Amino acid sequence: MTNLIDIPATRPQIHLLPGRSRRFRSGHPWIFSNEIVMNAEAKALPPGGLATIVDAGAERLGVGTFNPHSLISVRLLSRRCEQTIDQAFLAERLRRAAALRDRLYDRPFYRLIHAEADGLPGLVADRYGDVVVLEANTAGMEALLPTILAALDEVLAPSAVLLRNDGAVRKLEGLDLYDRLEKGEIAGPIELEENGATFFADLVTGQKTGWFFDQRDNRAAVAALAKGQSVIDFYSYAGGFAIQAALAGAAKVVAVDRSEGSLALAARSAERNGVALDCVRAEAFAEMERLTAAKQRFGVVVADPPAFVKSKKDLAAGAKGYRKMTRLAAGLVEPGGFLMVASCSHHMAAEAFADEVRHGLSLAGRGARILRSAGAAADHPVHPFLPESAYLKALVLQLD
Ligand code: SAH
Repeated sequence: MTNLIDIPATRPQIHLLPGRSRRFRSGHPWIFSNEIVMNAEAKALPPGGLATIVDAGAERLGVGTFNPHSLISVRLLSRRCEQTIDQAFLAERLRRAAALRDRLYDRPFYRLIHAEADGLPGLVADRYGDVVVLEANTAGMEALLPTILAALDEVLAPSAVLLRNDGAVRKLEGLDLYDRLEKGEIAGPIELEENGATFFADLVTGQKTGWFFDQRDNRAAVAALAKGQSVIDFYSYAGGFAIQAALAGAAKVVAVDRSEGSLALAARSAERNGVALDCVRAEAFAEMERLTAAKQRFGVVVADPPAFVKSKKDLAAGAKGYRKMTRLAAGLVEPGGFLMVASCSHHMAAEAFADEVRHGLSLAGRGARILRSAGAAADHPVHPFLPESAYLKALVLQLD
């Protein structure tokens, strides 16, 4: 057991300003700093501590974590104020999340916790068999971490647990960035399965938690179009799209990434699956331009880049990036071939992304039809009151 002590009756209280409870009451899981009585007492509370939420009429509305230094001050844990937040409570949330994923997938490789949608605001957990990688992105989750780790042991008893608390979002919560192996050992890249393919992921030095489970369904959709085709996968990372296309019977597959380490993993995974893969280390736009000049064309072109829009102020520049990416990638698609483009930028709305893709197709002079417009796989559920948290946008098109 850990030392978290929560006594509902004596928990600190956060008071809402008059008339500011409606959105929260209707189901939204956050309370913003300008909606609460931010007096000296509230400001003095420890960042990430538990608090009971009380409206201006003294009605108690729930329990959440409170951070006086964040714009999102309160994040809801339970609408039952009398609920004790302890290991048993957190273990129940983990059990519910694991049960959902085990219904969705046969194999234990998935996003286990997707923050608010799984009732654990600010927490992300990816499961790689008996290894779990966590990201605590809020002061509330940072404070609860020891108890979450104990609950995780109770529910899944993982052999190794890695904290990848190095995401820039932590700065908004006043948290420092660090990585730490919390339990067990992780010796080199580990194996995971997705859609029947086997991959190597480097959880320690890889991007985010080591693998992008969010693209699972989109990779299957691309693979379904790949048989007999030449396929090129820009921003391939560890080869998720490329190798699944190769396994589906593509005639030839090229993976392009600027990271040597990512391509090395992709090459290793290709070998493990018994498929051929050409790995090209290059900057994506430069390679697209080079292939265009060389008049090379492909039956399937994939472009799933890192977030071009990292914050609201990059929106215009990032939007242009998606337009240019679509223009260049579309130019490489054979008549009748397929293009899959994606954006994982939180600040780029689906409509805005679709606009840039349209614009890019028009600049490339290509007619097209949208076959699939999708987001992340179901192990990345969305809280109904946080539609903007559906960060992944993917379009699959056939080009004339
Ligand atoms: N499509 C991948 C995920 C992409 S992550 C998947 O399905 O898993 C982003 C990748 O883009 C990283 O591997 C990074 O090395 C690569 N990258 C970032 N900027 C790049 C650039 N300008 N040119 C080529 N690769 C780039």
